[in-house]
Amino acid sequence: MSYRDDIYISVKRSFDENAQKARREADERRRRLSEKYSDMAEVEAELSQTALSVFKAATDGRASLDEKLAQLKERNRELLLRRSELLQKYGYPQDYFMPEYGCKKCSDTGTFEGKMCICMKNELAKRMTQISGLGILADKMTFENFDLSYYCDNQSEYDNMEFILGKLKAYVESFSKENNDSLLLLGTTGTGKTHLSVALASAVIKRGYYVIYNTAQNIFADFEYDKFKRAQNEPSRSEKYFDCELLVIDDLGTENVNQFTTSCLYNLVNTRYCEGKAMIINTNLSHKELRTKYDDRIFSRLAGEFKPFVFTGKDVRMKKLLMN
Ligand SMILES: [Zn+2]
Repeated sequence: MSYRDDIYISVKRSFDENAQKARREADERRRRLSEKYSDMAEVEAELSQTALSVFKAATDGRASLDEKLAQLKERNRELLLRRSELLQKYGYPQDYFMPEYGCKKCSDTGTFEGKMCICMKNELAKRMTQISGLGILADKMTFENFDLSYYCDNQSEYDNMEFILGKLKAYVESFSKENNDSLLLLGTTGTGKTHLSVALASAVIKRGYYVIYNTAQNIFADFEYDKFKRAQNEPSRSEKYFDCELLVIDDLGTENVNQFTTSCLYNLVNTRYCEGKAMIINTNLSHKELRTKYDDRIFSRLAGEFKPFVFTGKDVRMKKLLMN
């Protein structure tokens, strides 16, 4: 796991704020009830003295410490019982003075049994998804709703897609900073490349990695903006494509290929390769078309360093439209 520092810090801060708010509100409930009922006020006043009484007992030598502590413990038990009776008498729930934490498991500390609590993992994944560029696709395209039945009418296509699905799921499970192959997803339009790469990106985010997803067209537009339009103090739009731990480029080949985009692509692919950072590239182009469209340096990286998966089948999007 390697959440982006700024995101981790911001999530941790919001957890701390929530916990403090829950405690403040609980104190406020206690204060209000003490103001309203004098018997409750007496109990609360004595309970709040417990820590002081323990300290006094420890420094007072007249009786043995154990004996004094036992007395205090007994008195504390009586007071809690009394509080419980009073809450019932005045019609309040037994946990009325307990802080209402968002997560009961970790009391909004973000840690449970020495590990990061699931609530914090979920919140981090939510925030990492927000900055990933996946947008609404993250909910729409998951491994769970990838429907193999669209490939049913051709056994070899079905087997191929089942194989790819299994490989991509395994990729997510084993993804780490060290174990992170780059993948090239080839195949014609509508064969499921976008769906599976979105599903993969979301699943890698859930495992705690920094993922960026975008179309080739948008990525090159960001590079262009940075180079020609960006004001001096404006943050870079293209930096994230280098920084993230997994970059997914959708639809490579649909952009307007020119000298500028070619040089950006080579720089991006090569820098990430040299830094040991993974990429997933989707393209409708065949190996042959990739070779003609991009220069040799790019092609040799794509052909040499990326694991290819060839998506087969007719346009599933068309099939879905016809079947619905
Ligand atoms: Zn929790």
